[in-house]
Amino acid sequence: MATDLVRSVVLMDTVISMRAVRAPSDEAFDERTEHALDWFREVERVCSRFDPRSEVMQLTARVGEDVEVGPLLFETIAFAMDVARESDGAFDPTVGYAMESLGFNRHYTTGHRIVTPIEQRERPTYRDVMLDVGRHTVRLSKPLVLDLGAVAKGLAIDLAARELRPLGDFSIDAGGDVYVAGRNERGDPWRIGVRHPRREGEMLAVLRVADVAVCTSGDYERRSTGGDGGHHILDPRTDRSASDVTSATVVAQNAMLADALSTAAFVLGPERGLALLERFDVDGMLVTRNETCFSTPSLARYLP
Ligand code: ADP
Ligand code: MG
Repeated sequence: MATDLVRSVVLMDTVISMRAVRAPSDEAFDERTEHALDWFREVERVCSRFDPRSEVMQLTARVGEDVEVGPLLFETIAFAMDVARESDGAFDPTVGYAMESLGFNRHYTTGHRIVTPIEQRERPTYRDVMLDVGRHTVRLSKPLVLDLGAVAKGLAIDLAARELRPLGDFSIDAGGDVYVAGRNERGDPWRIGVRHPRREGEMLAVLRVADVAVCTSGDYERRSTGGDGGHHILDPRTDRSASDVTSATVVAQNAMLADALSTAAFVLGPERGLALLERFDVDGMLVTRNETCFSTPSLARYLP
C-alpha cells in the first residue's frame, strides 16, 4: 500500500496533477497515471487548434468535403454541437478563427503563432458544421476553424479518470478543472475551493464533493497576447470577450459536461446560464461583474 501519491505534469497548456489517497503500490500508481497522461496527450494531438497537423485542423483544409474522422474527434464535436444547440449558440465551437485573430494563437510549448490561411468572410456558426452519425463524417460548409478548447480538457479528465479507477480514491486537477473519486485522505468528501474571481487568495465557496467533476471558467484565466488584451471566452454574437460574468463554476457527473457548461453559462449570463444548468440537471454558480453571486438551488447540497 502506498499512501498519498502525487504526480504533476504540464500538458494542454496547464498543470495536470493526479493524486491517489491509497494506491495498491507505487508501481500501480506510476502505471495508471502514465495511461491517464497518455489520454491528455492523445486528446491534445487530435483536438489542438494550435497544431496545423492535428486531426481537427485537417478539417479546415477540406471545407465542403465529408471527412471521416476517428471516434474521439467525432464524439467530441457531436457533444460540442449539442451544447451549441442547447445554449442557442452562446456556446459555439466555430469561434476558432476569431480566437486566432484576437491573439489566442500561440503554441504553449513551441511559442509558434498559428495563422490559418483561410478567408472568413461571413462569421460562421455551429450550423455550418454537419455531422453524419452513420458514416462518422464531418463537413464544414464554410471556411472555419473549430475550437474544442472548452471541452477537450474535460474530455481528457474523463478518459484519465477511467484509467485511475483501480486506484480507488483519487483526484485529477487540470488547471482548476477537477474530478474527484471517493474520499480524501481523512476519509471525508473532497473539498474543492472555488476562487473569488476578483479577490486574490479568497474563496467564494468550498464544495464538499465525491465522484463528480467541478469546472470553472473565469475571465482572469487567460488574456490575449495580441489584439485587445481581452480574456479567452467569446460571445459569438460579437466575437468579443463575454463581459457580464466573471466566473462560472459547474458541478457535474463528468468533466466534459462541466467544462462545456461552465463556458456556456459564462456567455449566457446569470439568468439564462442557470436555466441551462438546470435543464442539464447539473449544479453551478456564477459571479457577475458587480460581484453578485447566483447559484442553482441544489448547489446547497455541496455546501456544509
Ligand atoms: P479554460 O480553458 O480556462 O478552462 P474554458 O473551459 O471556459 O476555460 O474554455 C475556454 C476556451 O473555450 C477558450 O480558450 C476557447 O478555446 C473556447 N471558447 C471561447 N469562447 C467560446 C464559446 N463562446 N463557445 C465555445 N468555446 C469557446
Ligand atoms: Mg469550460
